Amino acid sequence: MTSDTTAQAQDEAVRLTSELIRIDTSNTGEPDTTVGERVAAEYVAEQLAEVGYEVTTLDSGAPGRSNVFVRLRGADPDRGALLIHGHLDVVPADPTEWSVHPFSGAVRDGYIWGRGAVDMKDMIGMMLAVARRFMRDGVTPPRDLVFAFVADEEAGGALGAQWLVRNRPDLFDGVTEAIGEVGGFSITLADDLRAYTIEIAEKGIAWMRLRVRGRAGHGSMIHDDNAVTKLAAAVARLGEHQFPLVVTDSVRAFLASMTELTGIEFDEGDLAGSVAKLGPFARVVGATLRDTANPTMLTAGYKANVIPSVAEAVVDCRVLPGREEAFERELDEILGPDVEREWVTHLPSVETTFDGDLVDAMTAAVVAEDPGARTIPYVLSGGTDSKHFQTLGIRCFGFAPLRLPPDLDFTALFHGVDERVPVDAVRFGTRVLDRFLRAC
Ligand SMILES: [Zn+2]
Repeated sequence: MTSDTTAQAQDEAVRLTSELIRIDTSNTGEPDTTVGERVAAEYVAEQLAEVGYEVTTLDSGAPGRSNVFVRLRGADPDRGALLIHGHLDVVPADPTEWSVHPFSGAVRDGYIWGRGAVDMKDMIGMMLAVARRFMRDGVTPPRDLVFAFVADEEAGGALGAQWLVRNRPDLFDGVTEAIGEVGGFSITLADDLRAYTIEIAEKGIAWMRLRVRGRAGHGSMIHDDNAVTKLAAAVARLGEHQFPLVVTDSVRAFLASMTELTGIEFDEGDLAGSVAKLGPFARVVGATLRDTANPTMLTAGYKANVIPSVAEAVVDCRVLPGREEAFERELDEILGPDVEREWVTHLPSVETTFDGDLVDAMTAAVVAEDPGARTIPYVLSGGTDSKHFQTLGIRCFGFAPLRLPPDLDFTALFHGVDERVPVDAVRFGTRVLDRFLRAC
């Protein structure tokens, strides 16, 4: 690998990340107000076509929900292909809360600023930079690489990855493994020791609507069948409920790695307490120890003196691998017979193991660029498009490599105000991704 093209790819990743942030791709969850995916897809397609890729651009389920695919042929056609996927959409941002405009893509103070800087236009920039370099330099990877840039991840993927796997599985022909968000970032454990997270599991997403029906009536009278009162009580019971602590295989693997690297013992009798020693990262890890159900929306009534006949709530539930049935039984007990429930979005958990050639290749690529690196398996409390890709039998990992400064509260930047990514981290990630894809 020649040093000029290494430098060029790193410069490009920074420029592409910044330019992608300037394309507002806010996904509001409502098709009418979601913008920009087509513009971003056209931009990505142009970058790939410019260096000679044959690009497939297609809409998924609705006009403007655009996706881009390219395939780079590998040396061994008998090996399964590797999918490298990223989403083009971002969550909305309110400019009045930010120190820079969220769609400026400003590069200053050593950071690239803006909505999508870590979720996940940084990785899109890195993917594009490496794909462009491989084509320019005539690199033949060991196996086919499929680069996918998709729509609608931030609303669950119904008009993105989910539509693609259901309607165009041919785009994933021969794909056996995949990498995408959210993993690969470093956690500093000591001056010369950084743990790089490789995501091997995700909790399931279960967004649930609750509905209570009662008798409508006048607000001035005695009334014993008030839908608002019954719903409010059920929501409060659920919101205050603590689901049982369950240590899944993947969480156990994460804790064992952390113990090995830090000496911190995780006492299963007080797991929440010992996990708190992990600092800001404990927010994510803590949520992987049990199912959660956070009430997020309430709707009822239209006038102060009218008791409505219906009251509704939405609850964001996240369920551990293997807990689906037990979780539903527990829900029904807490909610009781008066509350109807239905899934608004219901996506499975993801779980694989931390072993095999692909994991070894990720580790080797990270260590080659950071001699103080160790890779560790970890579980994401949120969800990604991996949920959809795994339905095709693809083994999914989260690996978007970034070497981060020790004091950066990285997980708070996801969907956060002043989202930003260190320029050096993007340059580092580009080098790691390049090495990894040459060896995968
Ligand atoms: Zn994301």
